[in-house]
Amino acid sequence: MQDCIFCKIVRGEIPSAKVYENDSVLCFLDVAPAVRGHSLVIPREHVENILEIPEDMAAHLHEAIRRVGRGIIQGLKADGFNVGMNNFQAAGQVVMHAHWHLIPRFHGDGLQLWPQY
Ligand code: IMP
Repeated sequence: MQDCIFCKIVRGEIPSAKVYENDSVLCFLDVAPAVRGHSLVIPREHVENILEIPEDMAAHLHEAIRRVGRGIIQGLKADGFNVGMNNFQAAGQVVMHAHWHLIPRFHGDGLQLWPQY
């Protein structure tokens, strides 16, 4: 996708702080983090949301989410992490390239996420 900001990151046209990558998945730090280490996991291929993700791609994404989550726990010494995804504009999706937010959490950090819950 020509105008998609995450496709531009995949192509290297926009810089990103990569935390993990393989042939099908890219993980990088969010430019406006909720907390230090807030990471995004995306498929290299452009799909808009979770409903468009084929099974084989889902397996790669799931594996990457677990890897980055492990890195958050072990590397940042976090006590936990949230995995979140916005699908469609009405749910708060701003970048229309499917992505998961991984947000490090610490006991008593008081972070308020997805307050509409
Ligand atoms: P959404 O609301 O789930 O679509 O979240 C999009 C996320 O992408 C937001 O948290 C943004 O801060 C993040 N973002 C937008 N542009 C960039 C970028 O160029 N690099 C890294 N993160 C970005």
